Amino acid sequence: MKKMIYADHAATTRLSEAAYQAMMKYLERDYANPSSLYSQSIYARRSLGEAREKIASLIGAKPQEIYFTSGGTESDNWALKGVVGAQPGKLRRIVTSSIEHHAILRPCAFLEEWGHEIVHIGVSREGEIDLPAFEKAMEEKPALASVMLANNEIGTIQPIAKLADLAHASQCLFHTDAVQAVGHIPVDVEGVGVDMLSASAHKFGGPKGIGFLYVREGVVLSPLHHGGAQERSFRAGTEDVASIVAMAAALEESCCHMEHTTAHLHELERIVLGEMDKSGIAYLRNGGSKKLPGLLSLSFPGQEGEKLLHRLDLLGVSISTGSACNSRETEISHVLRAIGLEEEYAKGTIRISLGAENTCEEVWALAKILKKVLGYL
Ligand code: PLP
Repeated sequence: MKKMIYADHAATTRLSEAAYQAMMKYLERDYANPSSLYSQSIYARRSLGEAREKIASLIGAKPQEIYFTSGGTESDNWALKGVVGAQPGKLRRIVTSSIEHHAILRPCAFLEEWGHEIVHIGVSREGEIDLPAFEKAMEEKPALASVMLANNEIGTIQPIAKLADLAHASQCLFHTDAVQAVGHIPVDVEGVGVDMLSASAHKFGGPKGIGFLYVREGVVLSPLHHGGAQERSFRAGTEDVASIVAMAAALEESCCHMEHTTAHLHELERIVLGEMDKSGIAYLRNGGSKKLPGLLSLSFPGQEGEKLLHRLDLLGVSISTGSACNSRETEISHVLRAIGLEEEYAKGTIRISLGAENTCEEVWALAKILKKVLGYL
């Protein structure tokens, strides 16, 4: 297979060396079930506790506030359904934004079918939530507000601390889907004051199929699924110790290098945008001024995002048209619709998401290939 330039880190990331090294011994040797009573399982149990402590310390939480899950989708589902399930029989109101990931929007639609009320708050052209509308929605005393920390398609970072404050002033719980943010921008649950936060390891160099939900002490959630007594009886199922340990190692590594990675990603962004500007290509960059580093949502009028993706693929570049979860759909994404992007631009939108591993040489090559595909070489 030819060497590809991977520029789709918002879809997933390569397993980091630290994560790989951390997980191997649990796959090969220390595979005992952490819930068993014999001495062999003590090591697995201890490693689970250490991973929990490490993750908690990296996001400003207490170890007992971290619940391991199978990833972002499960964490999001649990936060929403767990709040509703905590008061069975009571119809609840949930406030969310119109640009959430489907892992939020679809459970919301499911809850709506069960009679709960879902309120979607719009966003600006930059993707920032309509604050006055959010504040107004809080007057109705919803049970939960869920707004993502950073958007997976356009990268916009929301004013989470402000939103959490507004929610709390109305005795409303606040959840944030931080799947694109954790490991990439500083996240401190105490500092921003959220009640729940979802994260997923494969977005920051950890394995796929593992993540966590932070649940502030005192917040009552019903379990999403029932069974064994793992995760203090709130999340049944034998723990994937290898993946959990690897997730902790990956998060530690990402947080450790965050400042350096951010500077590197900004440099890479400058290369791509500089090349676009020099060649006079007409384009729009989506996402406003506060965005995830390395995420470039670019709209080219008169182009088709999917065609661009396939041509780039043929020339050795992996990018996305929107989020990976809806990459099979050719329709304009709900995020681009919500920001009010004109159809002509929306159709020609691609997402380039750069990662720490991308080199300047790769990004020069990517920009050259992109210009070629757009007919500017
Ligand atoms: N939330 C956001 C913002 C995402 O970007 C994704 C994945 O792309 C998810 C949730 C789902 O995470 P997972 O793939 O771990 O289920």
